[in-house]
Amino acid sequence: MNIDGKAESLKIKDEVRARVEELRATGRRIPCLAVIIVGNNPASRSYVNGKIKAAAYTGIESREYELQESTSEDELLSVISELNGDSSVDGILVQLPLPGHISEARVLEAILPQKDVDGFHPQNVARLWLGQDCLAPCTPLGVIKLIESTGVSIEGKRAVVIGRSDIVGKPVAKLLLDHNATVTIAHSRTAGLAALCREADILVVAVGRPGTVTGDMVKPGAVVIDVGINRGADGRLVGDVDYDSAASVAGWITPVPGGVGPMTIAMLLSNTFKAYEMQEKFVD
Ligand code: NDP
Repeated sequence: MNIDGKAESLKIKDEVRARVEELRATGRRIPCLAVIIVGNNPASRSYVNGKIKAAAYTGIESREYELQESTSEDELLSVISELNGDSSVDGILVQLPLPGHISEARVLEAILPQKDVDGFHPQNVARLWLGQDCLAPCTPLGVIKLIESTGVSIEGKRAVVIGRSDIVGKPVAKLLLDHNATVTIAHSRTAGLAALCREADILVVAVGRPGTVTGDMVKPGAVVIDVGINRGADGRLVGDVDYDSAASVAGWITPVPGGVGPMTIAMLLSNTFKAYEMQEKFVD
């Protein structure tokens, strides 16, 4: 069965929208997301447009900061510092990748952890791994929501995550562990990947290479979540999983597009609302 990421993301956005409407009705301040984009990478541009459009749908205000490719790291840091100190801004997102002359690590660390709606600040990463309340990264949060939407319980299941990046693989694995799955993280040096995958009740693929998982690697009935976004030779978007062969074996599978992508944006808005709530408590 197909997992409809668009429908699931709409549920999350509608929940946020209802809560924003409630704020508006009671005359409270409205949450605000600041999005910074540096340079004119077309993929980044399209991601940012999607985020701004989704924010508008929920009623969350957004501010966009378009900086030139030649912007220095110091200039970018000073924009972040201003937004950190602006109590009308709840979330700050710096669209990645940044131009090569800017250190992503320094920039991400400059964002106030309680406004770090991407969940990339070392303090949020540490809190996630310590099991403390935090802003967790959006794509991994979306992956969990998609698995939950199938009605398949994560607890006690064997989960395999392919990919060990800081933004997807590792945090997905930690969230699955928090839901009491038995988790294995696979990567480019993993031996016997196909056999490992065949043991997975839940298979999350975040590699960035089309055809990484084919139907013969999927356990019958498994939940398969395809995080990959790749552009095929014909310009179409494809995931990391060979959808047709995997779908005939899996119990549940996400398509690309229309799977994890929309959920990532929905979880960004959910995180922005959470950051708002944290800030309001802080201010009171
Ligand atoms: P990275 O390139 O940071 O990580 C890729 C991971 O895949 C690495 O851990 C790498 O292993 C592993 N890998 C590479 N080749 C193989 C292989 N042949 N077998 C097994 N593992 C392999 O990518 P990201 O985590 O940032 O992104 C992964 C994919 O997800 C990309 O397509 C990206 O576009 C997409 N993405 C989608 C999002 C969404 O909203 N849908 C959000 C973020 C990312 P090693 O560590 O050993 O090098």
